[in-house]
Amino acid sequence: MTTTASKSKSKHAANNGSMKASPILAEVGLPSDPDNLYTQTVGVLLHAAELLGLPHEVQVILAQPKNEIMVHFPVRMDNGDYRLFKGYRVQHNNACGPYKGGIRYHPDVHLDDVKTLALLMTMKCALSRLPYGGGKGGVKCDPRKLSRGELERVTRRFCTAISPVIGPDYDIPAPDVNTNAQVMAWFADTYEAQSDHRNSWDAMRVVTGKPVEIGGSLGREKATGQGVVDVCAELLPELGIQIKGMKFSVLGFGNVGSWTARIFQDLGAKLVAVMDHTGGIRNTNGIDAHALSRHVAKVGGVAGFGASSGSGKKSSAGAEKIDADEFYKTPVDVLVPAALEQMIKDREAKMIAAKVVAEGANAPTTPAGDRVLNQRGIEVFPAILANSGGVTVSYFEWVQNKSCTTWDEEKVDRELNKYMVMAARRTVQARQRFNCDMRTAAYVAALEHVGKVYTVRGIFP
Ligand code: NAD
Repeated sequence: MTTTASKSKSKHAANNGSMKASPILAEVGLPSDPDNLYTQTVGVLLHAAELLGLPHEVQVILAQPKNEIMVHFPVRMDNGDYRLFKGYRVQHNNACGPYKGGIRYHPDVHLDDVKTLALLMTMKCALSRLPYGGGKGGVKCDPRKLSRGELERVTRRFCTAISPVIGPDYDIPAPDVNTNAQVMAWFADTYEAQSDHRNSWDAMRVVTGKPVEIGGSLGREKATGQGVVDVCAELLPELGIQIKGMKFSVLGFGNVGSWTARIFQDLGAKLVAVMDHTGGIRNTNGIDAHALSRHVAKVGGVAGFGASSGSGKKSSAGAEKIDADEFYKTPVDVLVPAALEQMIKDREAKMIAAKVVAEGANAPTTPAGDRVLNQRGIEVFPAILANSGGVTVSYFEWVQNKSCTTWDEEKVDRELNKYMVMAARRTVQARQRFNCDMRTAAYVAALEHVGKVYTVRGIFP
C-alpha cells in the first residue's frame, strides 16, 4: 500500500474537532444532549455523510433505525419465583442485506445503547462490503448473578419473544458482551424447535457464533481479536511501528481483549498493562497473555493475577496492581480498548500515553475523547474497521451453513485477512481523498457503499 495513515495526522485534527451538529438530528427528533451515545454516533455518521455528499433522504433514513423492538418476558428463577426481564432487538438498516448483529447481556443495556450498536453494525458491514445490514440486541440482566440454568431459560425465553422478527435470511444475531457460543447454541436450538420441522436444520442459521459441533465456524471465537491484529499489521508499519517488539495495553480482557492480546504476544509484542471490571495490572517486563487468559477463565477477572509474586512488586511471572489513571498513563505503542462504550472521554484521552488506539470495543471513545486524541496526534483505528473481524467470520459461518460446507481454520484466517486489509485500504484511501481523520474516513468509505445501494434500489414505492 502506498498511502500513509501517518503523514497528515495532525492536519486532520481540526476536521474532527470542528464537527458541527447536523440539522438532521433535530429533523428526525433526536435529543441534542451531547452526552447521549446515539446522538454522538449519528453525529459522526452525518458528518461523514455531509463530507461525502450523501443525498439528504439517505441521511435521514440512516439517522434512525428501521425497527426498535422491546420485549418483556417472565423467567422462572432457581428459587421458584418468576422475574420479568426486558429485552431489545434494534434493526437499523437492511438495504445491503439481512440485519446482522450481536446480543448482549448486561445490567446497563438500554435502548440508546442498542440503537448505537445496531447503527455501527450497518456501517461495519458496509465498510467490509459484507452482504448484511445492521442490527443489535440485548437483555437487561447481570449474567454473573444468574445460575447456568437461569441463563439458559433467559436465553430461550428471549429467543421466543423475538423469534417472530428474526430469521436466518432476515435478522441474524451473534454473541456480544457476556454472551458466547453456548448462549448461541441455546438460542439456535429454541428457534429451531419452533420452526417448520421440514426446514429445521436450516433454521440453525438464525445465529452465528455457534459451537463448531452445530455449524459454528472454526476461527470464530478469536475472530474479532484476529481482525484487530490484522488491521494493526496493515496500518502500524506506516506509523513506524512493528508488532514484533512493540508494547501494548488492553482495556477489557474478555473475548476481544484476551484474543487480541494472545495473538499480538504470539507475534512478538509485549503486553504491559490490562484493566477490566475487577481492576488493573501492570508489568513493564511483560504480562503473559496466555497465563492471564487462564487466570480470567478461572476467577472471572484480571485482579489477583500474579499476586503470588508479591503485591506491588513486578516480576516476569506476575504484575503489580494499578488504578485506572495509572493504566491510561502507561506508555505503550498501542492501546486496545476492548470493554464497553464511552470509556475514553476527554479526561482519559488526556492521560493516554499511546501512539495508537485500536478500537476493539464498539464506540469506546466519545467525541470529546476523540478530539483530544486527534489534537494530541494519537492515531485511532476506529471500531467499524478494527473490530469487524467478528462479523466477517460470522459471515463465513453463514456462508458455510448455507452451502453445507466447512472451511479449515487456515482458510478462515486467510479470507479474514483479505477482508480486513481491504477495509483498511478503503479507509486510508477515503482519508486521503477527503483529508479527514480515520474515523470519518471509515464512515465515508462505508457510506459510499450504502449510498450506491440506495441509488440502484431506489426508495419504495
Ligand atoms: P466480553 O463480555 O467477553 O468482555 C467484556 C470485557 O469488558 C470484560 O473483560 C469485562 O471485565 C470488561 N469490562 C466491563 N466493564 C468494565 C469496566 N467498567 N472497566 C473495565 N473493563 C470492563 O465482551 P467482548 O465480546 O469481548 O466485547 C467487548 C467489546 O467488543 C464490546 O464493545 C463489544 O460490543 C465489542 N465487540 C465484540 C465482538 C465479539 O465478537 N465478541 C465483535 C465486535 C465488537
